[in-house]
Amino acid sequence: MRTLVRLIKTVLLADLWKGMFLTLKYTPQAAFTFQYPAERRPTAPRFRGVLRLQTEPATGAQTCIVCDQCAKVCPDDLIALGGHREPGQKIKVLDYFDFNLSRCSFCGLCAEVCPTRPIKALIMSEDYELGTYSREAQILRVDEMYDGVPIELYTR
Ligand code: SF4
Ligand code: SF4
Repeated sequence: MRTLVRLIKTVLLADLWKGMFLTLKYTPQAAFTFQYPAERRPTAPRFRGVLRLQTEPATGAQTCIVCDQCAKVCPDDLIALGGHREPGQKIKVLDYFDFNLSRCSFCGLCAEVCPTRPIKALIMSEDYELGTYSREAQILRVDEMYDGVPIELYTR
């Protein structure tokens, strides 16, 4: 009986019609395609992109207090940072912040422990363009941490 049903389905091209019906069902809808890199796909609300340091929006002042918690919590030891204290100042000045993007698993622990409020000094941004042409460029220095990863546009 099962063989007969299969034979009838084969003769009547049942699978082909099923596929054609599905194609016709989606044809009137607008295309989902994004014209990347001109158009960037929006990210999900809690997307974990490349790490980025943030400044005070109003003054542009450093928000990182050089507490070293992010470096200590990283399971792969990917963050190295240091700073100095100006005479008479309580908060340290951030001198360097090196982040090895190439081995980051985007676990988010470093951003989670960052204690500064209301502006978090270290966040996981929406930046997902992480490719570079060399390994050295995967080590982000402090200036690149504020600006995000520079996007290298493809040219022929
Ligand atoms: S996201 Fe995770 S692996 Fe990447 S630097 Fe932060 S703690 Fe380390
Ligand atoms: S945890 Fe936050 S405040 Fe502390 S050193 Fe890292 S980025 Fe700076």
